[in-house]
Amino acid sequence: MIMKKECDLCHQPLTDYQVLFDRRIERMEYLPMGDDFQAVAMVLSCDGIACYCSTDCSAVGVQKGLQERGISKTGGSIGPLTSCAKCGGLVDMTRPHAHYLEMEVIVHKTPTQTSLTVLYDEGLADVCINCEPDGAFLAVTQQAAALA
Ligand SMILES: [Zn+2]
Ligand SMILES: [Zn+2]
Repeated sequence: MIMKKECDLCHQPLTDYQVLFDRRIERMEYLPMGDDFQAVAMVLSCDGIACYCSTDCSAVGVQKGLQERGISKTGGSIGPLTSCAKCGGLVDMTRPHAHYLEMEVIVHKTPTQTSLTVLYDEGLADVCINCEPDGAFLAVTQQAAALA
């Protein structure tokens, strides 16, 4: 995890409270829970796109970031099927796909490690792997790593 020192939008120094804009390559698993099921995201890899000091800055920054990538803000889905926020094609969420999200966190730093407490997270969009230039590559690398 790379922690930044300043807000990507207003360039103020960041405090322990931060709003993260992340992309995860993940796939869903659906576990039976009584009569129902529970959707669990298996995160294969995670890239920080940006870090903001406040939800005011993230609202502007995230909007811009998604726009630059040609992604519409469709909100997160738990699947098992959704449509790609970029090409509109069908996304089988049990297969690796990109999930964009925004998270409000508190950062705890010790000399040896950094951990996060997530206060709130919101799915922004799900994108098929074909629309992610490096997505398929990342997913395959991660799977290979997990099997090794
Ligand atoms: Zn800011
Ligand atoms: Zn797509």
